[in-house]
Amino acid sequence: MPFEIKAIGAVNSAEPMHLLNIPRRDLQSDDVQFDILYCGICHSDLHQVKNDFGFSNYPMVPGHEIVGRVTAVGEDVTRFNVGDLAGVGCIVDSCGGCPACQRDLQQFCENGTTLSFNTPDKHLGGMTFGGFSQTYVCKESYTLQMPESLDLAAAAPLLCAGITVYSPLKHWHVGPGKKVGILGIGGLGHVAIRIAKAMGAEVVVLTSSDTKVEDAKRLGADAAVLTKDPEQMAAYAGKLDLVLDTVSAQHDINTYLNLLAIDGSVVLVGLPAEPLEVGAFNVVHGRRSFSGSNIGGIAETQEMLDFCAEHGITADIEMVNANEVNEAFERLEKGDVKYRFVVDMTTLK
Ligand code: NAP
Ligand code: ZN
Repeated sequence: MPFEIKAIGAVNSAEPMHLLNIPRRDLQSDDVQFDILYCGICHSDLHQVKNDFGFSNYPMVPGHEIVGRVTAVGEDVTRFNVGDLAGVGCIVDSCGGCPACQRDLQQFCENGTTLSFNTPDKHLGGMTFGGFSQTYVCKESYTLQMPESLDLAAAAPLLCAGITVYSPLKHWHVGPGKKVGILGIGGLGHVAIRIAKAMGAEVVVLTSSDTKVEDAKRLGADAAVLTKDPEQMAAYAGKLDLVLDTVSAQHDINTYLNLLAIDGSVVLVGLPAEPLEVGAFNVVHGRRSFSGSNIGGIAETQEMLDFCAEHGITADIEMVNANEVNEAFERLEKGDVKYRFVVDMTTLK
């Protein structure tokens, strides 16, 4: 029998989120159940609650950077014991058999990836409910092992922000000798600086915020460019091998294509709701490309967590209580966070 837990969620795109009761499935033989300790707040949670993409379903419980301690395991579970740390990111299920799943690219499952919230729930019907809640139940094969050596709350954002930037940085062969621009220094961007540096690249911050120019060195970047200053931008024309674009709102992509060296790419991971225009001359010149990337598969997420543990990489977080989630969303919308909100879920009573 499903059991009921407390959660924080939205009943529509306009009203503040509030306390809800939601069901979780009863433990299946291949499931891990854990008490949620912390859950990060990603800009995608904000996009979804506000229905920016037009496919939100309500009631909605967001949250997809979910960590906690295991309280029960099904009889077929082999990698987790009660008391272990556990993490769940964006993906909680996929078909396992399609060409994408067979390449460990569950994020592109041809039969529809089940996400940790706002996608059809195969067990209970309705939509999945995310991590702004007390408990999660997830198949073992989609549950991540959180490194004991990292601060758990500060490691939670790695489950979305971390994998979303690690996957393209790796795919586009970022490493020694490569110059990488990180565009937009929010939750994703600040983690990207650390991961790209740990991969051995030279890292240039591209930010619209003066205060983040000052912060860039502390975050580990080699240089910082204030994007609204044409002189600073001109100094990097044709210089970067890759620009990882994490901007959440409408912006002119052509400005950043012009920073690319021959064969360079602007890789979009940010999700502005409106289409972005690409000028022909900005890609034909220099054989440049404009591409995108979406989170990362489960095996790659575990690889990223282990990489971050090895290099001591976590997010800079501001912890909030469960009753401060609406205020945190308002501040995130204004860009007023350095650099990731994490909700202390033990305060959800
Ligand atoms: P965030 O913390 O709000 O950071 C976004 C950053 O973009 C801001 O800090 C700001 O950086 C810049 N920015 C925002 N509005 C801007 C504007 N109007 N013009 C120029 N720059 C602007 O968000 P996040 O959680 O890192 O997420 C970033 C985006 O990635 C969101 O759209 C999110 O939905 C998306 N996302 C995608 C995936 C994926 O798999 N593809 C996964 C997770 C998130 P500066 O102050 O430095 O300019
Ligand atoms: Zn996210």
